[in-house]
Amino acid sequence: AKSAGRKQFLFYSADIESKLQLHRMLEANLVDALANKAFEVFYQPKINVLDGKIVGTEALVRWRQPDGSLTNPASFIPLAEETGLIIPLGKLVLAQAFKQASVWQQQGFDLRVAVNISVVQFEDDNFLAMLDEIVRETGVTASLIEMEITESLLVKDVERVNSIFAALNTRGFRIALDDFGTGYSNLSYIKNFPFDVLKIDQSFVRNMLGSQVDQNIIQAIIQLAQGMNLRLIAEGVETIEHVQALQAMGCEVMQGFYYSPPLPLADFNRLLTRRISL
Ligand code: C2E
Ligand code: CA
Ligand code: CA
Ligand code: CA
Repeated sequence: AKSAGRKQFLFYSADIESKLQLHRMLEANLVDALANKAFEVFYQPKINVLDGKIVGTEALVRWRQPDGSLTNPASFIPLAEETGLIIPLGKLVLAQAFKQASVWQQQGFDLRVAVNISVVQFEDDNFLAMLDEIVRETGVTASLIEMEITESLLVKDVERVNSIFAALNTRGFRIALDDFGTGYSNLSYIKNFPFDVLKIDQSFVRNMLGSQVDQNIIQAIIQLAQGMNLRLIAEGVETIEHVQALQAMGCEVMQGFYYSPPLPLADFNRLLTRRISL
């Protein structure tokens, strides 16, 4: 038993050591990728199902590997957050998204552009100053920009979060509560914070057709949004059955693979031109 215990210990420590190495390699790669402009912003349309028009888009970052393949954010955002690299990475995404929002506006498209803001970015002391700088550089109209934040932010220092929300509001930015219903949901939060949009999480949409409970949760979220005059959007819409069920419950704006995956800018622009000219 003793030697088995020791073996197990050796096994674990080797495991941890290799994880640490992997971690360091990935961190170094992230730093390189930032320097080499290897991050690309993809855009996924948000559709009003009543007329099929694109009413908005979500900016989602991708990491282009030397072989051309793409790495999704789930495998590098957590590390970027841990190491603080999310600050320069997030700035890069914001700058591209703001610039693009301003270009679309000049081209005559009426498009809201959503960006994801992680708690680490939001808590950075320089957050507001950075936004102001990018607004100045891109000339974007702040009301075109929607910041997608998650409920995890709301359990932080309430005073501070509230004062940043107020500052964002003053500037005209919109705020969306992403992944709604999956975090530390507390209804008094949404009563007290100035949100514009509730985003129904894709996990509820994924399960809704086979689960009455998930359907009831979606119905409750929709009623809540209507009662508070919040805009509503469902994400992870993958099938026509999802579209029909959500629409029957009163949701009009949707995002998901049924309409389009996140696209490189050029592809998104083609979709945009085609859709609007319909
Ligand atoms: P999220 O904000 O909840 O984004 C939605 C995710 O669902 C995206 O994954 C999107 O590609 C995916 N998705 C869209 N439609 C469907 C669908 O119909 N079915 C399914 N199964 N998935 C769908 P993605 O792009 O891999 O991003 C993952 C997460 O990484 C995001 O979750 C967001 O939290 C974070 N993220 C992405 N880009 C950024 C960024 O620029 N900054 C920050 N801070 N976080 C980001
Ligand atoms: Ca999001
Ligand atoms: Ca989400
Ligand atoms: Ca999510």
